[in-house]
This record gives sequence, C-alpha cells and structure tokens, in this order.
Amino acid sequence: MIAKIALILLASMLLSAKEDLFFDISSEQTANAKTVLVDLYPSHPFHKAYVAFLGKRYPFFKRPDESGYYALIPTSYYQKPLHTQATIVTVDQRKHYLSLPIEIQDGHYKRESLRVNPSKAHFSKTAKVRIAKELKEAKKIYNTYTPKLYIHSPFILPLHSKITSAFGNKRLFNGTLKSYHSGTDFRAKTGTPIIASNRGRVVLVKNRFFAGNSVIIDHGEGIYSGYYHLSKFAVNVGDIVEKGQVIGYSGATGRVTGPHLHFTFHVGGVCVDPLQFVELANRYLL
Ligand SMILES: [Zn+2]
Repeated sequence: MIAKIALILLASMLLSAKEDLFFDISSEQTANAKTVLVDLYPSHPFHKAYVAFLGKRYPFFKRPDESGYYALIPTSYYQKPLHTQATIVTVDQRKHYLSLPIEIQDGHYKRESLRVNPSKAHFSKTAKVRIAKELKEAKKIYNTYTPKLYIHSPFILPLHSKITSAFGNKRLFNGTLKSYHSGTDFRAKTGTPIIASNRGRVVLVKNRFFAGNSVIIDHGEGIYSGYYHLSKFAVNVGDIVEKGQVIGYSGATGRVTGPHLHFTFHVGGVCVDPLQFVELANRYLL
C-alpha cells in the first residue's frame, strides 16, 4: 500500500512538471541578505501557491496591479554561497512543480569595529532576559503574513542624509562581541523628523535594548520596515500611516555610538538589505 501511494505521488509529480506555469524572476543570482522577486502568471486558477526555498515556503500574493501573482524570496545573512534551486508550487486538484536554479553568492560585506557603552557589549543577567524577550517578540511580528498589501506606490527613504554605516557590515563591539549590522545607518542629529517609507500599519512602538526607541511598520504580505534609536515617537501601535508621514524623531537611544537613524527591512521573517529591497520592490512590484 505504501509503495502504491509513493508510486502515485511520483507519477503525479512527473506528469505535472513544467505545465501551465509562466513566470518571471528578477534575478537567478542573489547574495546573502538580498531578496529576489518571482512573478507568476498561471493559466488555471489555484487555491494555494508558494515558492519552496532552502527549507522555507514563501507564499504568492496577487500583484498590486492584479496582472498576476508575486512572491518574495529573501536569503538569510548567514547563508553561505551555494548553487541551489527555488521550486514554484501551485496547488489545485493536484500539485504542480517548477524548479529554477538560483545561485547564492557572497555579499562581500565589510568589517567595522565599534566602541559602545560596556553594558551593551557585556550583558547582565537582567539584560539577557530582556534581549531574549525582545527577540522573541520581533520574530513573532516578522513571521506574520498580514493577508493585505497596504502599499500601492514606490517606497521612499525615511530621510535624505549621508549613509554612515552600510547594511551587513561584520561588526566587532568593544574588541570582543561579534555581530553584523542589520540595517542601514543614516546621519541624523537628534530631533530630525523621520518619515514612513511607505503606507502601512504600525505594529510596534517601544524602547528596546539594542534598537532603543523603535517603530515597526507592517506593509502587509510579510513586508516590514523598522526605524530605530529614536528620541521621540509620533505614532501609536495600530495607527495606519501614510507614506511620508512623520513617525518619530531621530535620537541616540539603545546601542549607539551617537545619534543616527537605523533603517531595517524584514521580508518573510528574514532580515534583508533595506536599500536593495526598496530598489527591487520599486522596480518590479510597485
Ligand atoms: Zn545601525
């Protein structure tokens, strides 16, 4: 009986391969912490579709212009270079599979050394508990796919200023603690108005150990932007913010070497290069 089921499954996989799926991919090469976009134009309706990539599933959603469907495939910062594949899976009465090769290259991120307050590089017991709690809370937010896209026009930057530290830098704090830079830093003296990169729903407004005063905006369908180290908030959790709306004022709260804005993006639960994501979304999605 088991053998028979296995045979039937195998047969249906073979029969359904490369059938009825028209797709576009933004690039077959990516790097750690970069995002790729796949468009899907099915000739038949389906009730579920996703991309399977490195053990995770990234769902397809209707494109904002309703011409087809899109899925975002983020790659983790910690992913090593690899020749692999992404598999588009659509499900109607049966499953259809289409695999495409993806090459993951090294992002060639730079190294930097920083000096911060010793309490932010060697953690007390209380700090460790707080860090773990805040990490868990953030993960829960980022792994939520809100089934609604709030955005319908291109992303903008939260302020126009010099970039003082690029995303992805391999960091060494106070000569001992290793980490990586999970966002892009913009020069901003305390009190500079910070605007929402795009429309969305505010899902977090609070002071956190590393990020200091933080605002996170849910743009829908697994896309989140973050604004850290603020001196003051201008929004509350649950607010719908418009693109360009002031959400707070820059500052030097949390783990910092001085006042600046740290700008982040999470896609499908993965922390990604914010500027590359904005460029990708503006070019292929919005
Ligand atoms: Zn930063």
